[in-house]
Amino acid sequence: MTTKLSQELQTEVDRRRTFAIISHPDAGKTTLTEKLLLFGGAIRLAGTVKGRKANKHATSDWMEIEKQRGISVTSSVMQFDYNGNRVNILDTPGHQDFSEDTYRTLTAADSAVMLIDSAKGVEVQTKKLFQVCRQRGIPIFTFINKLDREGRNPFDLLEELEQVLGIRSYPMNWPIGSGKQFCGVYDREKTRIELFQGDDHDKIEVQPVSGYDDPAIKEIAGDYLYERLCEDLELLDVAGDPFDMEKVKQGELTPVFFGSAINNFGVQTFLENFLQLAPKPEPRESSAGRIEPTKEQFSGFVFKIQANMNPAHRDRVAFLRICSGKFERGMSVKHVRAGKEIKLSQPQQFLAQDRDIVDVAYAGDIIGLYDPGIFRIGDSLSQATEIVYDELPTFSPELFSKVTVKNAMKHKQYQKGIDQLTEEGTIQVFRTIGFEDTILGVVGQLQFEVFEYRMKAEYGVDVMLQRMNFQFARWLVGPSIDPGKFRINSQLVKDKKDNYVALFENEYALRTAMEKNPDLQFLNVAP
Ligand code: GDP
Repeated sequence: MTTKLSQELQTEVDRRRTFAIISHPDAGKTTLTEKLLLFGGAIRLAGTVKGRKANKHATSDWMEIEKQRGISVTSSVMQFDYNGNRVNILDTPGHQDFSEDTYRTLTAADSAVMLIDSAKGVEVQTKKLFQVCRQRGIPIFTFINKLDREGRNPFDLLEELEQVLGIRSYPMNWPIGSGKQFCGVYDREKTRIELFQGDDHDKIEVQPVSGYDDPAIKEIAGDYLYERLCEDLELLDVAGDPFDMEKVKQGELTPVFFGSAINNFGVQTFLENFLQLAPKPEPRESSAGRIEPTKEQFSGFVFKIQANMNPAHRDRVAFLRICSGKFERGMSVKHVRAGKEIKLSQPQQFLAQDRDIVDVAYAGDIIGLYDPGIFRIGDSLSQATEIVYDELPTFSPELFSKVTVKNAMKHKQYQKGIDQLTEEGTIQVFRTIGFEDTILGVVGQLQFEVFEYRMKAEYGVDVMLQRMNFQFARWLVGPSIDPGKFRINSQLVKDKKDNYVALFENEYALRTAMEKNPDLQFLNVAP
């Protein structure tokens, strides 16, 4: 039986698209995000997103900003409407803001947009973020940016996607020249040229053609680029992958778009195609089986907790991804882990720079909940029946520091701080065997700084961090583990659940250890 509510849920879920943009710093994510928001009318002034970034350099500045502003939630989720769709963009910080939160945010996205600088190709951070998306099997759409500059041959770039990331591609459009010669892109589906005019493209200028070999293209591009376009497209038609929506859905084939974000060129076409092809919120696995987003009972999980850096305001914001049902302000839900009912009274939704109080929200949306310290990353909230969403993955740390407390008298608070911050997912903790030294592991430098700051601000403890040379952590599983075999450029430690973990200074040390211990498994994350 379809009720009024179930119809409403269906309509709202169908029109939602929740995604993250993954890229290496400087590929143009801020620029692209800003253009997307402008299309949605979510911000009036270009440069609004930029302003945020200009402030974001030294960490000390960042702490200052947090202090002045209270909690910096503005950068975490952006929402806008376009052509009837409701779009949620999840921010994945780069630079020194990179942290485990960045990875966890990807668990809240239904698809990802991979942004690539056409001169640089696939870079380190793109690769790391891509791998997390790959593990989740979400669809990935690619935007190759900065075509107004000399870039690499588009075939090279596609080859790199396949070689480095292991994903096949389907170009939706194809660039005609690049840099000073860039004249536009050929749209393979609409068989038309989108003309590049070098300045801000507030509307799409097109020239319909009969195909890529239409001689009319010579008028626009000249003989040389026309010939190249014909050759390239012929090759794509013959040797390229066919478009296959099933493969896109599985994250095995990425639709590729070329453009220039700064000139707003190709952005609108990208957005419109993306909204058509990208998935709406899908069912998610839980203790109660697969939960449909249109299920009438509300449910969701916390994927990120942002602490307020101002000691005068100890509150936090817990970011909740809604997975089913309808959220209404003031509703009571079950906090499953804590086993109690809580009232969601002051939730926030994020629209560019403003923090708004949200009255209703649906699956796919992200809401920020005021957190007096009751939430942990991975917590599930649900209405009526208990639904527990699958545990969030942990990620292999890459930076390590030994931590000591400056004042031994503070040892108790220090221990409490370490326990709580580990539980919150701020850092991962390891102990050396025998000496019981504490080693912190993180994926981004910022996590160390936040740890240091919060130990001082919230627990009154001054800590000393001493960077260690390790670069990899591997969880060891096997019949017998001999610490003697982990002495050269490596060290054996235990995690908080007493699992053995080996830390390695370099790939060579890791490889040698693997060869010497053929009966052990070396896992990236805790078993
Ligand atoms: P983010 O670090 O990925 O957020 O990158 P930004 O959006 O801040 O862009 C990095 C730099 O690249 C800035 O100087 C931008 O102006 C520039 N940029 C972004 N998009 C384009 C583009 O399409 N063409 C050119 N030439 N520069 C761009």
